[in-house]
Amino acid sequence: MKGFPACLEDLKAQGRTLVGCFPLYPPLELLHSFGLTPVVLWGMREDITSLALSDRHLQPYACGVARCLSELVISRGHELLDALFMYNACDTLRNLPEILQAALIRDGRELPLFRMHIPAVPLERPYAASYLKDRIRLLVRELEAFTGRPFSQERFLKSVSLYSRRRRLCGELEKAAAEGRFSFADCAGIILAGSRMPVEDHIPALESSIQSAGGRDVGGERPGVMLSGILPPPMILLETLEHSGLRVAANDIAALKRSYAYQPAETDDPETYYEDFYRNHYPCTTILPSADRRVDTIRRIVRERDVKGFIFIGEKFCEYEYFEIPEMEKMLRNEGVQVLQLEMSMDDILNLDAYRTRIEAFSEMLCQGRQCKEA
Ligand code: SF4
Repeated sequence: MKGFPACLEDLKAQGRTLVGCFPLYPPLELLHSFGLTPVVLWGMREDITSLALSDRHLQPYACGVARCLSELVISRGHELLDALFMYNACDTLRNLPEILQAALIRDGRELPLFRMHIPAVPLERPYAASYLKDRIRLLVRELEAFTGRPFSQERFLKSVSLYSRRRRLCGELEKAAAEGRFSFADCAGIILAGSRMPVEDHIPALESSIQSAGGRDVGGERPGVMLSGILPPPMILLETLEHSGLRVAANDIAALKRSYAYQPAETDDPETYYEDFYRNHYPCTTILPSADRRVDTIRRIVRERDVKGFIFIGEKFCEYEYFEIPEMEKMLRNEGVQVLQLEMSMDDILNLDAYRTRIEAFSEMLCQGRQCKEA
C-alpha cells in the first residue's frame, strides 16, 4: 500500500480539494457534501521518517500521532492540502492548530483552518447539545464561504448514506476477521486505507474484501484476543500475532472499531445528525462523556466474543488511554481474561523484535493445551 503522502499526491493530481482532518472523528459527511475530500491525518507512523520540523514546535514527549501529523502539515501541507479541520480532543491536540498555523505563517504557507469545539460534558445536558448545534451551524456557514456553494440537504443526505455504508462494511469485514474467515492484519490495512482514500473508492475495496472472505479460514478455532489502543500495532506485529496462533476476535482500536461502530440515524439535518453522532459515539477516551460507558462496553464484548486475552497497545505519552488501564485490567482479570500491555513510541518502530517475543509468549500462554499453530 502506498504511504500517506503519496496517496495525497495522487488525490491532488485528480484535482480534489483536500481537507486534512484531526483527530479521528471529524464531520466527514458534512465536508464531503460540499464537494471536499476529507482525509484523516492519522496512522502515519510508518510513513513519516523524519520529525525534524515537528520537533522545532512540539516537545519530544508528545505522542507520535501528533508529531507525525505536525511534520506532514508543516513540511508538505501547503502542497498536499487545501485546508485543515480540527476539533478538540486531548491536551496534546488542544493548542495544535495555533502551533501549526504559526509554523505555516512563518513559512508563508498558511492554510484555511476550520475548528469545532465538542462539549466535554454529556450532550444529555440541553445547553451542551444546543452549543454543539450552534457550532455545526457556524461550520456550515464557514464551509459555504470557503467553497462558494450553499449547503444542500440533498447532498448532505447522500454523503450520510455513503459514510453509513462504509461504516457498515467495515463492521462486516471486522466480523469476518473475528470469525477466522479473513486475516485481521489485512482487515486493518484495508480499513485504515479509508483515512487517505475517497469514500467512493473505499466502499468497493471493502466490498471486494468481504466477498473474498467467504471461503477462507485463517483460524476460527484459535483463542480470541481483543486489541485496544489508539492505533493498531505495525502490520508486522499483527502478522506475528496471527502466525503465533491467536485470532483477533474483537478490537477497541480508536482508528478502527471506535471510528465505525456507531452510525447515527440518517437525516438531512446536520445539527441533529452530529448531536446523535457525538452523543452516542462508541466509547472513546478522546470523547470524554462517552468514556463513562467504556468499561461496561468492553466487558460486554469480551463476553459476547469469548475473548481470552486483551492486548493494550499504548501510544506512548497518551495519558487519556493510560488513565483507564488500571480499572480496565481489574475488570478483565475478574472476567478471566489475560492482559498484555505493550507501549509504542516513534523510536520503537525500528526495533520490533522485543514486541514479537512478548506477543509469542502471550500466545503460548493462551494456547496451552490447544492446537494453535498451523502444522
Ligand atoms: S488522544 Fe492520545 S494519541 Fe491521540 S493525539 Fe491525544 S495524546 Fe496523542
